[in-house]
Amino acid sequence: MTQGITREMIQEKITRFLAQVQKPGRYIGNEWNAVHKDWDAAEVRIALAFPDVYEVGMSHLGMRLLYEVVNRQAEYIAERVFAPWTDMEQRMRAERIPLFSLESGQPLGNFDLIGFSLQYEMSFSNLLNMLDLAGIPLDAAARGPEDPWIIAGGPCAYNPEPLAPFIDFFLLGESEEQLLQVLALVAEHKKKPLLREDFLREAAQLPGVYVPEFYQVTYKTDGRIDKIERKVAGIPAQVQKAIVKDFDAAAFPERPVVPYVEIIHDRMTLEVMRGCLRGCRFCQAGMIYRPVRERSPETLLKQTEALLQATGYQEVSLTSLSSGDYSCIQPLIGEILDHYQAQGVNVSLPSLRLDSFGVRLAEQVQKVRKAGLTFAPEAGSQRLRNVINKGVREDHLMEAAEAAFRAGWSRIKLYFMIGLPTETWEDLDGIVSLAQRVADLGTRCGRRNITVTVSASSFVPKSHTPFQWEPQDRRESLREKQQYLRDKLRDRRIKYSYHDVPTSFLEAVLAKGDRRLAEVLRAAQRHGCRFDGWSEHFDEARWLLSFQEAGVDPEFYAYRRKDYDEVLPWEHISCGIHKDFFVTEHRRALQETLTPDCRGGTCSGCGVCNALAVDIDLKG
Ligand code: SF4
Repeated sequence: MTQGITREMIQEKITRFLAQVQKPGRYIGNEWNAVHKDWDAAEVRIALAFPDVYEVGMSHLGMRLLYEVVNRQAEYIAERVFAPWTDMEQRMRAERIPLFSLESGQPLGNFDLIGFSLQYEMSFSNLLNMLDLAGIPLDAAARGPEDPWIIAGGPCAYNPEPLAPFIDFFLLGESEEQLLQVLALVAEHKKKPLLREDFLREAAQLPGVYVPEFYQVTYKTDGRIDKIERKVAGIPAQVQKAIVKDFDAAAFPERPVVPYVEIIHDRMTLEVMRGCLRGCRFCQAGMIYRPVRERSPETLLKQTEALLQATGYQEVSLTSLSSGDYSCIQPLIGEILDHYQAQGVNVSLPSLRLDSFGVRLAEQVQKVRKAGLTFAPEAGSQRLRNVINKGVREDHLMEAAEAAFRAGWSRIKLYFMIGLPTETWEDLDGIVSLAQRVADLGTRCGRRNITVTVSASSFVPKSHTPFQWEPQDRRESLREKQQYLRDKLRDRRIKYSYHDVPTSFLEAVLAKGDRRLAEVLRAAQRHGCRFDGWSEHFDEARWLLSFQEAGVDPEFYAYRRKDYDEVLPWEHISCGIHKDFFVTEHRRALQETLTPDCRGGTCSGCGVCNALAVDIDLKG
């Protein structure tokens, strides 16, 4: 596809039809704060690739962070590329235009590296499609020295196996420092080229770098994994994630690109802390981003000032996995509002604690416009909330809801999951009665036009969690439960939404899959699977055909309960937490026993602090 085509030719070609595709602003670059550097003067050039559409990728803090971290280095160039929407892709294929970057318009084949961000299993088909559109061989083994290194990172890299044949090496953990080490190695390599294997050996010495071709996987006759063994010496048996230890001093994107097209999270973003220690047993993020590290309010105020000057945005979002747990949250909000509210700047809190403190915080930030409040009880009964270690009680929820209604809110969203381990019909009845009680409470508080939205997603067991051995609930059972809730949630004040079952099924297969799924992904890309996270594009039939062609039974991955001693596809990948901790937590789940947040004072032995030689303040 790319041979002999220059960026000028690409620009000339797309200008002819750009007005006919949806949102041309996705493809033109030149946004405010976009970085344009001298291509020829750069030592190393990396394309930061997000396998989803511009509006989603541009909202991702990790992309913004790495873009700025790399471009702050004079000798390196980082440029952005997103998955072109289907209409644009059709045009590009018809005109034989290879995928190109936004800043320089260079074909991706001209970069030294292409780094993919893996945030969601449903974007895997887009990754393969972007390589194909760039004219780059899908298989690492088929790529030569003239091809870019294809690397990937993000939460889905904690089970990298379904993508193993396509990626040269994965970056596990936090990449702010790690990626610069990789670029330095590539710069060395360009000066004194090494053989492919020798370069990859060097890369495998860097923290959190996993080179899949250096590990061999063998299988038992019943399909389970027999062994995962190293094929070369001098590489770790288990690859440990990389983390940023001094988070307060860590790099931060102070000059994010301000898009012309409205994006999903179109505002300033402050990352107040990283990690969460609440220990919800279904939550992969709560495990892989440990330990908790906070930024100081002083640092965050400086970052707010820098962001405001650089972007002109009117809203700052205080993000983390549980911002209500940030130890200085209330004074920080107070400071930001004192400094900037007069300039029309608002503060938003994406994740709220499910208690009256959470509502007081919400009141502080939503003084004027009371949008809606979202609480995540996750399960309908106390028994099941103990199973998943969601340490909130029903009276917490009712207290928070009352505080919200009395404070002027009329719309409350409640997040639940169905298909959780040990779930019973009584637990589903619990969802109905909780929603009903919240609606009735609103009426008693004198609120009018009450809307209680029940959003029920399907549980997807993930790697590196206490539920990694659990099967997903069968599709027919999930559909039956969705119907059960639909029949029961009849109150006109209650709205009900749920996730598409086939999409959640595929997500579970990919989240718990092994290298044999690579052939399914290859077939899926060939059959035109794209944007599988978008209901208007997800095509179950094409995926089932791809499984068939690859001779892989998806139910083997989604529906099979695993024993603790079974070799897991991600056995050689570590997020710093002991496997024993996951076993203990799984057993405590089945005993419906809570494990308190270690910030309360008692270490529950996950092992991450020792593994990563970090001390956290247990008195938090
Ligand atoms: S090792 Fe202990 S103190 Fe550290 S994060 Fe894990 S449970 Fe908490």
